Amino acid sequence: MTTSRTDGFRTLQVADTWQLTPRMKRLRLTGENLEHFASSDDIHVRLYIPEDGEKDIRSLVFHADGQPRDTGPGSGFAVRYYTIRRIDRAAGWLDIDFVLHDAPGPGSDFARRARPGDLCGMSGPCGLNVKPANRYLLVGDETALPAIARIVEELPRHSTGHVFVEIDGADERIELDMPTGMSLHWLYRQGEPSLAKAAKAVIGDYDPAEQDDFFIWIAGEFGAIASLRLALHAFAKTRYMCVPYWLKKYETARAG
Ligand SMILES: Cc1cc2nc3c(=O)[nH]c(=O)nc-3n(C[C@H](O)[C@H](O)[C@H](O)COP(=O)(O)OP(=O)(O)OC[C@H]3O[C@@H](n4cnc5c(N)ncnc54)[C@H](O)[C@@H]3O)c2cc1C
Repeated sequence: MTTSRTDGFRTLQVADTWQLTPRMKRLRLTGENLEHFASSDDIHVRLYIPEDGEKDIRSLVFHADGQPRDTGPGSGFAVRYYTIRRIDRAAGWLDIDFVLHDAPGPGSDFARRARPGDLCGMSGPCGLNVKPANRYLLVGDETALPAIARIVEELPRHSTGHVFVEIDGADERIELDMPTGMSLHWLYRQGEPSLAKAAKAVIGDYDPAEQDDFFIWIAGEFGAIASLRLALHAFAKTRYMCVPYWLKKYETARAG
């Protein structure tokens, strides 16, 4: 059963799951009135996840504006950002691809144990897509891969450019439906992250004076992409997006 409270919040139900790669699992989530989320400009959402699978998302209480209350620490719910990989508004489903990382975390744990019938909440959508251009540079790790896969699928077929994705190894690759003028570079992690170095080499090819010609899109771990932020200072802010998708914490044990 699904409920919709406002245009901003939906209760979603797991309909099916697929293990795409050893570390990536797709959940197909069904919900009512998903038109609001079917936008190519806004491809990200906030998921409200019952921690440890204990709380029922239907027990959430709402502010007058329809936004959920009491989702902070200790509430039993966690809020995490994810990407709508694909959406079929008529059929009433959307797919989200979750990285199953080693450290415990509500988002990853929810996906790992997900079974048809499980519930979570969703609000948004939030922006962070590319802007129109001829050439694109898309850079990210596996958390950015769902967004990159969707972006290249939806780009005009005459687009050119480069895609750099850092993953653990060849078995983490997925098929990308890209314009033929774009090149895909898989970078396999070998101890040290190499994403920033590879991307910086290509950023040097872009001329800040040719502002309307290109768009640079970067997402990944906070520390791994930090040095790229500096490399982007030469460009107008309308021509790039560089967003930390997650933060590597060194204490990964669950408190308590
Ligand atoms: C706009 C946006 C869109 C995103 N889209 C997606 C998406 O489509 N798919 C997706 O999988 N992620 C996506 N992410 C990243 C995701 O929100 C984070 O990885 C988030 O931290 C996962 O939450 P969690 O509850 O599993 O772990 P948390 O509770 O946040 O963290 C628990 C522990 O896991 C570690 N950790 C978190 N993420 C990773 C990781 N990827 N690899 C290794 N260790 C990790 C943390 O350092 C911490 O030690 C997106 C983030 C943003 C901002």
